Amino acid sequence: MHIPIAIIGAGLGGLVLARVLHINGIAATVYEGEASAQARAQGGMLDIHDFNGQLGLKDAGLYEEFLGLIHPGGQQTRCLDRDGRLLLDSPDDGTGGRPEVARGELRRILLESLPADAVRWGHKLVSTRVLGDGRHELAFANGLVVTTDLLVGADGAWSKVRALLSDAVPAYTGLVFFETWLGDADARHGESAAAVGGGSMMAVAPGKGILAHREPDSVLHAYVALQKPLTWIEDIERADRASAISRIAAEFDGWAPELTALITGCDTGPVARIIHTLPVEHRWNRVPGVTLLGDAAHLMVPSGEGANLAIFDGAELGKAIASSPGNIEAALLAYETALFSRSAHAAAEAAEVTRLLFGEDAPYGLVEAFKHDMLGESAGVTGR
Ligand SMILES: Cc1cc2nc3c(=O)[nH]c(=O)nc-3n(C[C@H](O)[C@H](O)[C@H](O)COP(=O)(O)OP(=O)(O)OC[C@H]3O[C@@H](n4cnc5c(N)ncnc54)[C@H](O)[C@@H]3O)c2cc1C
Repeated sequence: MHIPIAIIGAGLGGLVLARVLHINGIAATVYEGEASAQARAQGGMLDIHDFNGQLGLKDAGLYEEFLGLIHPGGQQTRCLDRDGRLLLDSPDDGTGGRPEVARGELRRILLESLPADAVRWGHKLVSTRVLGDGRHELAFANGLVVTTDLLVGADGAWSKVRALLSDAVPAYTGLVFFETWLGDADARHGESAAAVGGGSMMAVAPGKGILAHREPDSVLHAYVALQKPLTWIEDIERADRASAISRIAAEFDGWAPELTALITGCDTGPVARIIHTLPVEHRWNRVPGVTLLGDAAHLMVPSGEGANLAIFDGAELGKAIASSPGNIEAALLAYETALFSRSAHAAAEAAEVTRLLFGEDAPYGLVEAFKHDMLGESAGVTGR
């Protein structure tokens, strides 16, 4: 079977690309490894920024639907110290440029905006073969083999497509986020709910922190961040749930109880998210008929930008292809030239956000950065 444009991965980036191509009358097929749209919970809240993610959604013709998904009050941002003292409280007055939506809802409107057969679920790409003239052969775990004129790797951190372009592999940053969720939090964990407020809360210290977020329906979602060797994380993952929780909580011994309750009071979790990155300046030479977007291209430490960049990349690539009919290589060259400088800038900024969050002067450097609006473009680190 021959597919003119094959997009690997139905994350936000791949879906925005498919959508922008669709509204320009260009058919593309998205191959997704997961069995269905419901196969996995889609993470929590995402800040969608007016300078990248929102622009991509406008290009996708989905801005009005996006506005209908906004979580009121979600832009409130607080910084606390380990004793629970409020160091900064930036309210949500409804005018900020990074309103919050649930990732799963955003994915839903994208899926609903595509033709029913645009996404092929249960198609995990396992190998690729270069056929020449920019064409590739793709083999999937379910036995399907197709050829394509344009292959787009929108397949995330552990991209299978990336190897066609680059030798880079993600490296462990030394940082792990344990995700926890507390349900019915206003009633059951009132002090933690009050500490988190209506949006996001960051309580950080050198080498560690608790970053939490209020989600709809009185749910508190936390990332408990620690700088630890991989062997320590593997031990935690092997431990039973109760001892994993108490070992993680022990790292925050002496912290305010409304903060540590975000670990010890969790109904779901802890789930380890081991943070890997590609090199800040990751780039490749033009290879005919293949490119990357989103995490596949520029996996970086979470700073509230990754999903926004994936959406923006998808829209930029879609527009480049649509505006260069008959010359895919010119479209890819223009797209990648802008992609490389955009992502290097964002990755460097993400590394700086990590330093402010968990470096030697945390939390005070972070608070100063907020006060001077240095984090204006990267202040949404607690969503996912
Ligand atoms: C802890 C944490 C917190 C974060 N917080 C934020 C935040 O607040 N704001 C923000 O903007 N970003 C955040 N990010 C980053 C964000 O999640 C990613 O940057 C974003 O999801 C990348 O989108 P994507 O479309 O490139 O890839 P993904 O969302 O990873 O989608 C890739 C898709 O490809 C599929 N796939 C993978 N391999 C194959 C294969 N071989 N065959 C077929 N399909 C395949 C996967 O199943 C998946 O559906 C966070 C990340 C982490 C780890």
